[in-house]
Amino acid sequence: MGYDELLEDAYSKMPEKAGSGERFDIPVLDSFNEGNKTILKNFQAACLKIRRAASEVSKFLSKELATPATVEGDRLVLHRKLKPEAVNKKFEEYVNGHVLCKQCGKPDTHIDSGSGQRAKMLVCEACGARGVVR
Ligand SMILES: [Zn+2]
Repeated sequence: MGYDELLEDAYSKMPEKAGSGERFDIPVLDSFNEGNKTILKNFQAACLKIRRAASEVSKFLSKELATPATVEGDRLVLHRKLKPEAVNKKFEEYVNGHVLCKQCGKPDTHIDSGSGQRAKMLVCEACGARGVVR
């Protein structure tokens, strides 16, 4: 077998490229404790990945974790000592409830809080589904 054939053989054994049905990987927040605070180092990057405003996500975390939260540059500072698992569990809840489409599971969504609507809607750009956000 020549080199080209080997290469072709290797390619054919590779898994299919990102197609439909691929699960979205929820970003993991990188946190550490500083005194009585919890710092999330990659907060902005994580928000960018889920396409939500840092202010929105921090509001949710602040409420759910019952602690004030301050966005400082790329980081989020929670004014309480929290375990990384506790923070990430809430972040995952946010992503599941406010980002991932209930119909197709894709993260290609946005929140529609347009006038005349009492509830915020999660609108999927992939399949067009609309659902009420808790
Ligand atoms: Zn969808």
